[in-house]
Amino acid sequence: MKIAFLLFLCINLHAEARYWQQELDYKIDVQLNDRNNTLNGNLELVYKNNSGDTLHYIWFHLWPNAYKDFSTPWARQLRKEFSAGPVRTEKGYIENLDFKVDGSRVRIAYAPESFEMVQLLLSEPLLPGKSVRISTPFVTRLPKYTSRSGYSRNQFFICQWYPKPAVYDRKGWHPMPYLEQGEFYSEFGNFEVNITLPAQYVVGASGIMTNNEELEMYREIGRNNNSYKKYVFYKNKNEQKLKTLNFKADSVHDFAWFANKHFVIRYDTLMLSSKKSIDVFSFSRSFVNSSWNNSTKFIKDAVIKYSSWIGEYPYPVVAAVEGPENNSSGGMEYPMITLITSPHSDTQSLDALIAHEVGHNWFYGIVGSNERNNPWMDEGINTFFAFRYEAEKYRSNSSIWDGMQADYKHLSTDEFLNRMYRSISSYFYNTPISTESTGFANKGDYGFVVYTKTAQWMHMLQQAMGKEKFDAGIKHYYNTWKFRHPYPEDFKQAMEEASDLNLDDMFNLLKKRGNF
Ligand SMILES: [Zn+2]
Repeated sequence: MKIAFLLFLCINLHAEARYWQQELDYKIDVQLNDRNNTLNGNLELVYKNNSGDTLHYIWFHLWPNAYKDFSTPWARQLRKEFSAGPVRTEKGYIENLDFKVDGSRVRIAYAPESFEMVQLLLSEPLLPGKSVRISTPFVTRLPKYTSRSGYSRNQFFICQWYPKPAVYDRKGWHPMPYLEQGEFYSEFGNFEVNITLPAQYVVGASGIMTNNEELEMYREIGRNNNSYKKYVFYKNKNEQKLKTLNFKADSVHDFAWFANKHFVIRYDTLMLSSKKSIDVFSFSRSFVNSSWNNSTKFIKDAVIKYSSWIGEYPYPVVAAVEGPENNSSGGMEYPMITLITSPHSDTQSLDALIAHEVGHNWFYGIVGSNERNNPWMDEGINTFFAFRYEAEKYRSNSSIWDGMQADYKHLSTDEFLNRMYRSISSYFYNTPISTESTGFANKGDYGFVVYTKTAQWMHMLQQAMGKEKFDAGIKHYYNTWKFRHPYPEDFKQAMEEASDLNLDDMFNLLKKRGNF
């Protein structure tokens, strides 16, 4: 008994020792110019090399350049998959960069035929365990709102906006251009962001605001609006002046923010089972879409369910923002804050969409897998849980199973899900789940396989393991890989460790072409 325990401990320690991850501390000062739709920023970043390798360069992403012209990978993907292109006259890009490492200017080298990926060529090699201080000013010209970023009238959706290191992990460097689908793989870090802008704007962002007076104002207004009785808008007395809001976000791999003078703020708190209380905000455009009256409730329900199934929500705040009007591009996840761009006016659809996007805090945000290579690991696993959420609440599904008009209220959640997955197993799938995000024939194929086929496979995995072992496996996976970068083999190992089952056959199905 004792020996076995010691052996187990040694093996575990050995496994621990092999895993490493780079460490990033960001400080970004940024000013929004709402007249010419630009950001003036300064990035300071401490980059610690925790790998065992000596680094001679560091890859950076300059993703605002995705919106630069018609030749970028994003624009090409839009044309191929969506038969559409970016608006010709209103491009976005990043300029005025001047990268310095430990105070000295460094040479840079762009990736061939790309302005979105650049190498900082270090004059001194960065040894294992050592850090460098990287800085650069930047000016980001925002595109007219497209692909989850830009301005729309006087609303600002600030995503993909600052220079950001690519991930360096046990499989090497992962420089990649921004794409419409299979979006993210980013390095975890701590962010401190100072946002300066005209005082009358309301700002929602990844992270917690440290300006107490402003935060208290949002809470008070939000509490009022959440009661649906007395609607109040934010008003700053210093209308002409600028203000600087400070946000902090720890253990996240991206930072997004949203500014609008006329946001409707809604606010509530949520007590998690550990007795930690978190802030719940929603920011909608107006009171027109009355489904948003329930938005903080939807966010709370999603956090409660996902926390109980997977592991407790670790951040101090969770929020959802309504995207621009006349746009129905769906939702997009960012850490602690999610963008909901959908005209949904029916309550269940909005609830389901918010749950899916809030759910990405777990699979994408906290468990940071590589979406470009393994999109199923965040979209598919998340879809499985979002379907469970909708099934528990409504015994129906608003996204894939609309054709079934029958009333299933009398069924248990499990019976409902069994029936639903049995029904969708007749859908035709060709591409294997394990396909990289750029390897799908079209958007439909991507959506079907990465989301639905994976959710169906997860359900099969649950059936094969038994619900108890499956749930234990998911919790074990989360606890082992939170704030880390897992690959498919790590998911398999976690599920096997927790259940003591051999799951080779189930995981081999990920490579299967056609239906299961
Ligand atoms: Zn998603």
